[in-house]
Amino acid sequence: MSAQEPAGSGAGPGSNGTQPRAAVAIEARDVRRVYRLDGVEVAALRGVSLRIEEGEYVAITGPSGSGKSTLMHLLGCLDRPSSGELLIDGRDIARLGDADLAQLRNEAIGFVFQSFQLLARTPAVDNVALPLVYRGVGRAERRRRAIAALEAVHLEHRLRHRPTQLSGGEQQRVAIARALVGEPRVLLADEPTGNLDTVNGEEVMAILERLNRERGVAVVLVTHEAEIAARARRLIRIRDGVVVEDTGTDRAAPPVAATDLARDVKAAQE
Ligand code: ADP
Repeated sequence: MSAQEPAGSGAGPGSNGTQPRAAVAIEARDVRRVYRLDGVEVAALRGVSLRIEEGEYVAITGPSGSGKSTLMHLLGCLDRPSSGELLIDGRDIARLGDADLAQLRNEAIGFVFQSFQLLARTPAVDNVALPLVYRGVGRAERRRRAIAALEAVHLEHRLRHRPTQLSGGEQQRVAIARALVGEPRVLLADEPTGNLDTVNGEEVMAILERLNRERGVAVVLVTHEAEIAARARRLIRIRDGVVVEDTGTDRAAPPVAATDLARDVKAAQE
């Protein structure tokens, strides 16, 4: 990672408040996260600095327990760092109360989980519309936008289906539509294909890649799978709570350190 100041990050003094859209969507500066459990401290992240810029396609990989999910939760504002700075759209989240943070998360970031996290008894279209409820969008407009998001993942023929009536791949596509419905600048996906077979996993990856290519949505995904990591334009490897490799964005033909990845995959399975 470079230490140079981002151009137009909007992160300078006095820049919180309304400002032009920044090229840097998420920035972490020496972020640490310590969990305290029964009096025992676990340092899950031990000083991570990175910037995710608009339109990037990033894979985060590393052995199980290395801190990937912790990092994703922080980048997605689902959690706060124990120390260090985290800027979303140039806004320092430490300065935001819980309600403002929830609003920023709702507007700036879409989250896709390995386990889909859909409401089981709720039709697809209503699952997708849910983030817009929290934004106070009216019912008709919610429905219109939810249908458009489901069209983007080729599920316009499954509007009334409940998650239990859908395949795993379709459920994940509903979850992507839900992440997309608020038109976020960043999609964070934690092992999005982890619960899917190869065919469905491929379909989900193709959708994420199309959203990145055609709409410019930044995609940051955690994966254990070397082939999936190899498709990203930037690879970040984490080990023991620190970044041990960051290729930077727009690496040409992904020069994946296949042996390292294979080692991570093996370590993750142990
Ligand atoms: P990964 O996603 O790479 O498998 P995690 O971010 O889930 O790693 O976990 C990093 C470390 O933090 C692990 O040692 C894990 O046991 C620990 N950890 C994660 N979540 C918690 C928690 N809520 N309380 C205590 N320890 C945790």
